[in-house]
Amino acid sequence: MIADFEYFAPKTVKEALSLLSRYREGAKIIAGGQSMLVIMKQGLFAPEYLIDIKGISALDYIKYDKGKGLRIGALTIHRAIEKSPVIQKHFGVLSEMERNLATIQTRNWGTIGGNLCHGDPAGDPAPVLIALNSKLKLASSVGERIIDMEEFSKDYLEVDLQTGEMLTEIQVPILPAHTGTAYEKLMVMKGDMGIVGAAVSITLRPGDGVCENARIALGSAASVPLRAQKTEKQLIGKVINDTLLAEASEVASTEADPPSDVHGSTEYRREMVKVFVKRVARLALERAKAA
Ligand SMILES: Cc1cc2nc3c(=O)[nH]c(=O)nc-3n(C[C@H](O)[C@H](O)[C@H](O)COP(=O)(O)OP(=O)(O)OC[C@H]3O[C@@H](n4cnc5c(N)ncnc54)[C@H](O)[C@@H]3O)c2cc1C
Repeated sequence: MIADFEYFAPKTVKEALSLLSRYREGAKIIAGGQSMLVIMKQGLFAPEYLIDIKGISALDYIKYDKGKGLRIGALTIHRAIEKSPVIQKHFGVLSEMERNLATIQTRNWGTIGGNLCHGDPAGDPAPVLIALNSKLKLASSVGERIIDMEEFSKDYLEVDLQTGEMLTEIQVPILPAHTGTAYEKLMVMKGDMGIVGAAVSITLRPGDGVCENARIALGSAASVPLRAQKTEKQLIGKVINDTLLAEASEVASTEADPPSDVHGSTEYRREMVKVFVKRVARLALERAKAA
């Protein structure tokens, strides 16, 4: 049963921030409510003041600038990201990721900001945004701060949101030339949460094809979306081939610290991390060669 709460539906960011500042720890934001309502029904969280931000139209946008990159408002729904022509053209991996996130009905209501702030290490957007070197804009009544996406998750369902803060924008920089990106997750059925997931971005040096940079992030492989930096180091500065990918994926499986649950044991997930890092990195490499 859901405990009683006072409900607010601000129409501007300023109004929302003023409510957050007034009610502090007693307040909680609700966006699509897809995760928040489950938590409230389970009695895990009982906010005294629920601040429904879904009506703040100023936070529902996708903007692209060839210098600054992509800006996504926190209230943008998954389906809009999946279908955005500008995202399909410049950041195809984001659309691909969204296509396998839940069902169309869920994607039509759940927001990217809610997904990230829920802090589920099995969520699909976080690893992809880490691989894309994204940043998050967080606002409060005293100002704004920008943090790296990879620093946002602190523990299982815990993120770096201070009291009175809300996520307003996701910022994705322009991809360097000769970069390929890919994301895949292990699903029992299409649209399931990933049992493990891997997102990879590889940048090649023109001419000799040496890997200039690699960013690898794993989903469901730890208590947070995990940047696999030791694995990245295996690839950087070398010409990537199948032998190197096999070695790197071994490193990824030791770098991961996956949970054991009804969907898969720790050992099984480690094996799947190997499979997915190899598979996804190979696809990112092919795309980098073609870019
Ligand atoms: C059936 C089903 C299947 C799903 N499958 C997948 C899947 O395969 N992959 C996947 O990644 N996700 C999946 N999801 C999650 C879903 O896609 C949503 O992204 C997620 O529920 C959160 O979005 P929301 O807008 O509903 O957020 P809410 O539930 O409203 O909020 C979630 C949390 O974020 C906080 N919050 C929301 N917005 C902000 C903000 N702007 N600033 C600060 N805090 C904020 C809330 O306080 C709350 O703690 C699934 C959900 C359902 C219901």
